[in-house]
Amino acid sequence: MKYIFVTGGVVSSLGKGLAAASIGTLLEHRGLQVILQKFDPYLNVDPGTMSPYQHGEVYVLDDGAETDLDLGHYERFTHVNLSQVNSLSSGQVFENVIKNERAGKYLGATVQFIPHVTDEIKDRLEMVTERNRDTDVIITEIGGTVGDIEGHLFLEALRQFALEVGNENVCFIHVTLLPMVKAAGEIKTKPTQQSVAKLREIGIQPDIIICRTEHHLDDDNKRKIAMFCNVKKKNVVAFRDVENTIYECPLDLRKDKIDRLVSDTLGLESKSPDLSKWQGFVDRLVNPSKITSIAVVGKYIDLNDAYKSIYESLTIAGAEHDTAVNVVKIDAEDIEKEGAQAIIGNVNGILVPGGFGERGTEGKILAAQYARENKIPYLGICLGMQIATIEFARNVCGLAKANSTEFNKETEHPVISLQEEQQGIVDMGASMRLGSCASTVYPGTKSFELYGQADTIHERHRHRWEFNPAYRKKLEGGGLTIASVSKDEGLVEIIEIADHPFFIGAQFHPEFKSKPNQPHPLFSGLIAASLENS
Ligand code: GLN
Repeated sequence: MKYIFVTGGVVSSLGKGLAAASIGTLLEHRGLQVILQKFDPYLNVDPGTMSPYQHGEVYVLDDGAETDLDLGHYERFTHVNLSQVNSLSSGQVFENVIKNERAGKYLGATVQFIPHVTDEIKDRLEMVTERNRDTDVIITEIGGTVGDIEGHLFLEALRQFALEVGNENVCFIHVTLLPMVKAAGEIKTKPTQQSVAKLREIGIQPDIIICRTEHHLDDDNKRKIAMFCNVKKKNVVAFRDVENTIYECPLDLRKDKIDRLVSDTLGLESKSPDLSKWQGFVDRLVNPSKITSIAVVGKYIDLNDAYKSIYESLTIAGAEHDTAVNVVKIDAEDIEKEGAQAIIGNVNGILVPGGFGERGTEGKILAAQYARENKIPYLGICLGMQIATIEFARNVCGLAKANSTEFNKETEHPVISLQEEQQGIVDMGASMRLGSCASTVYPGTKSFELYGQADTIHERHRHRWEFNPAYRKKLEGGGLTIASVSKDEGLVEIIEIADHPFFIGAQFHPEFKSKPNQPHPLFSGLIAASLENS
């Protein structure tokens, strides 16, 4: 097995995740099999309990693991299908060490950061290695910035690990920033030198340095970085700001042949990549012939990362239709203040994404009503499906006080309610209905057509509340179509309105299953319907 470790230096938000994902893309195109994973130094056991304002979107895997949004990049940029073992935080590491200590597993030893904590990290690498024997390369991104106190133990563990498996099987890639000092008109390499010096202090010598820069990285600067950082000049790679889309990142990194450098460093045999399909996808993104506008009505709207996979899914579906998607980000509370017509009166389609808590829900309900009444394409995801159900119950079925018990425990008509198994839950971590499950799609529905007449689908979930089966008859009587239910418990998975060009609510999260050239059918359907409505 070969290993790539991607660390970051100088500042955060350098696009380390995109760099790791892009290396994955390029290596796959060289015919290699890869796995990607992330080690995060924070103390939360997983990001499931973090606010989107803190951490951006929580990305959910098939097995229900709640993970960092970088895992979304990994799954979109490659063919990997990740699991909970591919996401490790300090919180998990310490939780295990303390559990072992209490269980007496350390046989009387003083439990220490080294070796016990570092062993725990190395154990994870070994476990992933064991499970992926047919893989060529495991790419691990280390969250945070070199020099942070909290990342130190991960780096120490990697240093030990490299020694144990042999340095020839490991490629350390350090992603850094080359700032431009405008007054001097120069790119500065010193922060990079110092950050690499920090790594070397720990005993890690990077093999490749990826330099994030807004400017041209000339030979002189490459030579300087090479000399001060003790790497070959050809292993100093530029990673420019991409102009249009993040899907250009692999193409940009390919200019300096990073995939070849990695392959050579690890002694792998691989072929030159044929990126024509990827390039074709990027070309379609960059030069679309049509445009459509979709309002995303949410509450974390000022933070791009909070709805990452939603935005990516819209872009990917747009490319399939040769269409640029103009995403209009709407704060649901603005609709509460000014009404739907004023705020979303001129968009071609409306999407209400997932969310938690009451704030903004009445604005979202107004958005769903506006979409239904004016025949504007609507896609509701998770909370957006629950919102559409409440709206339908109130305004079509005459249940004026209908609500979800999440927002009003005493509501007269709990059309969205807690399932029995959710009722006594006290611990908030990893206790929702999580991960992939199979559901049946009924013939004759729009969803059935969109899914290519598949009668069984597998989609990922992350929610506590459900469509209340006690109201199913009443809502169906009013004209709501139940298009899909889960195979195990018959929980409502998709609702539709038949007498509407496109009105779909999904209890699951289709945004976690879009990839370049493979848009999710529900997103693709929304874009097609929005184009019709322009
Ligand atoms: N808050 C809702 C629930 O827990 C919806 C969750 C979501 O949109 N992910 O059921």
